Formats: sequence, C-alpha cells, structure tokens
Amino acid sequence: MGYGAADFLGGSSAEMETQTRRALREILYEIQSPSTFESVWHEVSSSRPYRELLKSWECLNRKQRVKGWQRAARVLEQAAYATRPYCLQCGTCCRKGSPSLFRVDLPLVLKGVIKRSNLITLRRGEICFSNESNQLIQLPREQVKIPEKSGTRECLFFQGETKGCEIYESRPLQCRTLECWNPDGFTILTESPFLTRLDLLSPQDPILPVIKAHEEKCDLLNLEQGLKQAVDKKEGGLVLAAEALGFDRHTRDFLGEKYGLRADHLGFLLGRPLAEVAVSLGYRISLDADGRLQVSKERADSGLQGA
Ligand code: SF4
Repeated sequence: MGYGAADFLGGSSAEMETQTRRALREILYEIQSPSTFESVWHEVSSSRPYRELLKSWECLNRKQRVKGWQRAARVLEQAAYATRPYCLQCGTCCRKGSPSLFRVDLPLVLKGVIKRSNLITLRRGEICFSNESNQLIQLPREQVKIPEKSGTRECLFFQGETKGCEIYESRPLQCRTLECWNPDGFTILTESPFLTRLDLLSPQDPILPVIKAHEEKCDLLNLEQGLKQAVDKKEGGLVLAAEALGFDRHTRDFLGEKYGLRADHLGFLLGRPLAEVAVSLGYRISLDADGRLQVSKERADSGLQGA
C-alpha cells in the first residue's frame, strides 16, 4: 500500500484525508519537487477517485477502503511525479542498485565505455534482489550486469553525490529508462532481450569451450539440489556439491594461470565463485580439519546482488 501505516483504514474520512495529505507531502519532499503542496493537493483532491473515496468512505468496509485508497494513491503518485519529470542526478537510483545490460547496450561494451572487467555475470538459478519487483527472485536466465560495490547496493560507476555517474552520458538502457518520476518506467524494459556472455564473446574465443564446460558442471540448480541433500544428510548430495565447487575452483585457477585473467575478468566469464553463490542460495560452505567439505544453512539474504 505504501505511504505510511495503514491505521487510518479503520478511521474516519477526516483521518483518511489527513493521511492522504501526509502521503503527498512525503512524496513531494522525497522527489525534491519544485511545485507547492497546495497546487498538487488541488489536483489530487479534485480527482474523481479521491472525491468518490471521500464521499463513500464511512459506508465502505475495510476491503473496499483498501481498494479505493489504492486507486487514490495511484492518482496521488502520478500527480506528484509529474511535477518533476526529469533526472536530478541525485544518485538515489545509483545507490539502490546497479543495472543489468540489455542487447541494445552492446555498443557500450564494444566501444570500451564499459569494459568486460566492469561486468559480472549472474547465472541462471542465482537468487537476486529484483530492483523491479522489490523482492528476492531466482533468475530464470543469465544476465550480465555492472556489479555493486562490495557490501553495498551502490553501482560501481557511482562516484558520490558531487561527481555522480562516471558514464552518465553513455549510461545503459536500464538507467536511461528508469525514470524515478514515472512508476511505469520499468515495464518498457520487459520487451528488451538481456545481454549475455555469448553476445560479448567471439565464437572462436578459446575460452568459450571452458565456459560451456563450467556451465554444465557447475549448473546452479544442480548445486542447490546437492547442497540441500547434503544438509538433509541424503546420499550423494555432498559429492554433487563438492564436484561442482571443485570444478569451479579448478576452472578459475586454470584461466588465471593460462590467460593471466584476474578475479574481475572471471566474474564476467564464469560468474561469481560458486562458494559465494552458495551463500546467496542460503548455504554456508567450509572445510573441516581433515579438509572435508561441510555444508550448513545460512541466512537467506546473505551475499545477494541486485538484478
Ligand atoms: S551506470 Fe551510472 S546512472 Fe547507472 S546506476 Fe551506475 S552510476 Fe547510476
């Protein structure tokens, strides 16, 4: 429902009006609107959804009040955001997450605006925080994105409030399309295909077969199954998980030694190390004194990237 507590739903129409005014003040303040409260309030309070809600409030049951308020809140949100329909470069979006890339962003990588070492691959099956739906999701397909700075949700290219985005004039589609003043901005992106590693690698690239083998041996859905079975003490689970984790480690060492690739390149080529992904799947990996793999449950929201 948003905009404060829902206590007013059981109250009088005067309380509902107070809450609506408060919600409008909050949102205008949050988006640094240049308009006065009274001018936007006039628009909201004379809108049909709000007038109807106010008139019928005392006769509505709770469920009807919720529905009516949702309609009025939508009008309120649109009226407020319409007063500031441009980017302030305030950095709020850049601190809440970094963008995934879409195929139309390919030229940015080809031109070197965004280097491959500035990218990370989120593989199918990773648990991520969705900036779009504001909840945890398991990725149904691969996404390549700009990473977030360690321990934060802040985009790698955000240089603080005074300097802003390092690549603002060439920022990716998601950043250009996400209009904080337009709650519908995200929906446009559902039409665009995500960029994948294959879009960025030549078919002749000698690393391609290594990536394919890694995808097969380190499939995240299999890893998750192995980890779950290991925690449940089911036969074969520990072996399945240990094989995937071992192959992942071995592949990273191999690419580092043979091609001199550092961790930032490996994040794009192979995604995050499997031991890190396991944490985001809700498992802790460790070795006992004899070097044997140990698996236990971990907090479900640890080690997440946004998507
Ligand atoms: S690429 Fe630039 S605009 Fe986009 S989230 Fe990062 S810092 Fe912000």
